[in-house]
Amino acid sequence: MAVFTPEQQLQILSDLVAIQSANDHELQVANYLAKLLGDHGITATVLPAEPDADHKKAEPDRANLVAEIGSGAPVLALSGHMDTVSVGDADAWTSDPFTVTERDGLLQGRGTTDMKAGLAAMVIAMIELKAQGLPRKGTLRLLASRAEEVGEYGAKELARAGYMRDADALVVGEPSGWNIIYTHKGSVDFRLRSQGTAAHSSMPEAGFNAIPPLMEVLVRAQQEFNARPASDPVLGELTFSPTVFHGGDQVNTIPDSAVAEVNVRTIPQFDNDEAIALLKGLVGEQNRRGARISLDPYMQEPVVQAPRDSLLVRLATKLGERISGATIPVVGVAGVTDASSLLRGKGPDFPFMMFGPGNETMHTVNENIDKQMYLDFVQLYQRLFVEYLGQAG
Ligand SMILES: [Zn+2]
Repeated sequence: MAVFTPEQQLQILSDLVAIQSANDHELQVANYLAKLLGDHGITATVLPAEPDADHKKAEPDRANLVAEIGSGAPVLALSGHMDTVSVGDADAWTSDPFTVTERDGLLQGRGTTDMKAGLAAMVIAMIELKAQGLPRKGTLRLLASRAEEVGEYGAKELARAGYMRDADALVVGEPSGWNIIYTHKGSVDFRLRSQGTAAHSSMPEAGFNAIPPLMEVLVRAQQEFNARPASDPVLGELTFSPTVFHGGDQVNTIPDSAVAEVNVRTIPQFDNDEAIALLKGLVGEQNRRGARISLDPYMQEPVVQAPRDSLLVRLATKLGERISGATIPVVGVAGVTDASSLLRGKGPDFPFMMFGPGNETMHTVNENIDKQMYLDFVQLYQRLFVEYLGQAG
């Protein structure tokens, strides 16, 4: 007999959504899950956040959580993040974002799709399996992370702490809906600072204008990135997007500083290192002509590549098609996930997929999830995890 009724499974999702964890407070989610798992005989470890690498400030309400059932090899790692993005325009929501509200079979609330439903489904699946004395072979390891939405700091901490070292495969429960994602783009965030010398604009020669050399770098970079013929058959084009530009503060003063930020989405044919090298070259050129521009690639998430026909993907396709009654496409996406950090050093043969309940409403006002899809994934995960561990290695 199942441990949880569908109503109780929905209540767990409602409880998680009620815990406000927009870019903070993952500790409260972790404590809730640790209690839930503990009540059903599964020991969970709450791991406090490391101090912020950039600001060295303590983050007392942030944490990761790890929990396991089973023992020995193979080890299937399950990844879900506990943070959400902020609510956005709260007045634009048609219901309270922290009270799950049902409408036409959809459950509305911040974090329903991204990704408290996926996280809840993984946790419930583990509890249900444990109650049946499963898995008989191998280990299921839940890696619930903090700060996925900004920086993937939690996944980096979990990887550094060695939780992926003996893993044989990884499932990320981010919202793919009835699609399986086996590869995604990489991403680099750059900050460029240009330093000049202030002067009155009637005597620009007495100063050095920080804006033009920085603009020139961005224009050249846009041209160079656009000229790359590299395109991935699954992931598509490399993209280059200048997203922030600040410089100067008064129209009759030559500005002594300008700052730009750029996001590049990379593909296997032109990866993070190549993107960094290209921008370094352009900045170096400007600096040799007298500019003083610094380049900081402050956030780097590598491209994720995995086999399209792994046992994991094959089993998930079979179970997904049986449960949903639809064909499950196996595809690639542009968005990055914690897999970028968790799979560092694993190579392109490591079995990975992103497969979790959800839809296109992530990060939007009135974010929601199909109720039946959430409940279906609770069932699907149980069968997938046991079949995978039974057949792998
Ligand atoms: Zn997410």
